Amino acid sequence: MKPLRRGQVQRASEEKGTIDAADRKSTQEQATKPMSKRSEVYSNDDPIAVEVIRDGRLRSRVHWEWNGNHVRIRAPRGISKRRLNQHVKTIVEEVRQRRARVRARADTDLEAMARRISRKYFGGEIVWHSIRWVSNMRKRLGSCTVGGPTDGDIRISDRVKDWPNWVIEYVVAHELAHRKHPNHSRQFWELVKRYPKAERARGFVMGLAFQRGEDAEDWL
Ligand SMILES: [Zn+2]
Repeated sequence: MKPLRRGQVQRASEEKGTIDAADRKSTQEQATKPMSKRSEVYSNDDPIAVEVIRDGRLRSRVHWEWNGNHVRIRAPRGISKRRLNQHVKTIVEEVRQRRARVRARADTDLEAMARRISRKYFGGEIVWHSIRWVSNMRKRLGSCTVGGPTDGDIRISDRVKDWPNWVIEYVVAHELAHRKHPNHSRQFWELVKRYPKAERARGFVMGLAFQRGEDAEDWL
């Protein structure tokens, strides 16, 4: 499980006076009405689903947390619609920027890992075009194209992101080896085994697949 990321709009507390002033006339309302909710999706190349909860227990601060592309915002009930929309806009933008940073950093890490593995175990012989994390692979842990317009594009499922590092390295080594042998031939496995923990990591993957009633052969 990925940890939930939390944040707070500091500006909301700085603007406390203004927001509180607006709050005052609806204090009665706040106490009697249950919490209200609205949901919407802010869409462009990275759609963000936003859930806004107006919570009468909150005085002035706007709280938010995000998990993947889902943001939950809790705001004081008395905050004006205009001000709330400003906060939502700021928060969505902040989440988008953080997600972009995470993506960039993660892909860079993967690239560095692939270069290290290629140099250390494959004599730097293996070439590829790009390697990146993807979130849309349901079953497979990795894929590698050989030939065609996307030749040398390696994709690693972000399901493995929180697995032990030596297993992630194995998944990367496996895909790198496919650049030489686009199959599971004997020569392919011989190449993969240059990565010292290959056998152990295969066992790890097989164990997980077994637990889920799936075949590890479909995973890599
Ligand atoms: Zn394979």
